[in-house]
Amino acid sequence: KQFDDLGLAESLLQALTAEGYTTPTPIQLKVIPAMLAGKDVIGIAQTGTGKTASFVLPILQRIDEQKIKPVAKSCTGLIVTPTRELASQIADNIRKYSRHQRVSVAVVVGGVKPGPQIRDLARGVDILVATPGRLLDHMNTGAVRLDKTTCIVLDEADQMLDLGFLPGIRKLMGKLPAERQTVLMSATMPTQIRKLGKDFQSNPEEISV
Ligand code: AMP
Repeated sequence: KQFDDLGLAESLLQALTAEGYTTPTPIQLKVIPAMLAGKDVIGIAQTGTGKTASFVLPILQRIDEQKIKPVAKSCTGLIVTPTRELASQIADNIRKYSRHQRVSVAVVVGGVKPGPQIRDLARGVDILVATPGRLLDHMNTGAVRLDKTTCIVLDEADQMLDLGFLPGIRKLMGKLPAERQTVLMSATMPTQIRKLGKDFQSNPEEISV
């Protein structure tokens, strides 16, 4: 199967071709159609499997197809990840795949001044990539709200557990609309991550590579 067979839009196929990607990786083969169908997904996959594109491409497609416009202080898609480095890698991926699409991306991570992030958020963004601590700070001050967020990805969930982010994750999950898509990506599935899926996903498709 090629990318053409997965139901992806022409603009995304062109971006993939420009990257030199022709063949979807095993996780992409399964996650892309499931997410395009609107399903919740539990993906058990390591870094290097192409997992980032597997959730970024369907989010981009949804925003483009449904012509969803960002609302001030809100984000349509939210990707939560344990580290700053991962956040900036994911944002780079989004920019690569969205070269034929008009999409706004903001990155919200700790260790840098909050001012520019607050300004980015004020306009509203299509996709927000964030680490949990700073995201919660911005939620507490009212710089961002999650009630317009229709897709959330928890990336490297087991790492977030190890770093002590789980209580914060549970708190922010509670602020999302009930009607949403929830994607959980993890290299391993410790009990607490299983429980997180049980508590916040509905009828997820489990995909393991
Ligand atoms: P990830 O597991 O998301 O960190 O991706 C690992 C690397 O594989 C990244 O450098 C991606 O840009 C690259 N990649 C993702 N999808 C594909 C693909 N279908 N074909 C070739 N390389 C890919």
